Amino acid sequence: MFLNLCRQKNVFSCAANFSRGKKCIFCGSFKTKRTARGYVRCRKKTCGKQKSLKQLKRELDVLKGFYQGFSVLHRQIQELQFLETLG
Ligand SMILES: [Zn+2]
Repeated sequence: MFLNLCRQKNVFSCAANFSRGKKCIFCGSFKTKRTARGYVRCRKKTCGKQKSLKQLKRELDVLKGFYQGFSVLHRQIQELQFLETLG
């Protein structure tokens, strides 16, 4: 999972870097280049991979939904635990 390249607390701002094509999702390098076809290409010699920005955005949207869903779930669990302490 490419979001492993981010620090966990920073997932959303990190995702923003990815979706603007500022960061390579394969190696985390900021040396990227936008191509005319709407692709992001990594300029790092050892990487050099490219990905469609459109596709990337779609994947990030899914991930965002997942993280938001997860934080809602987390809050609900905390509320349940709180209610349990009240007996
Ligand atoms: Zn790269």
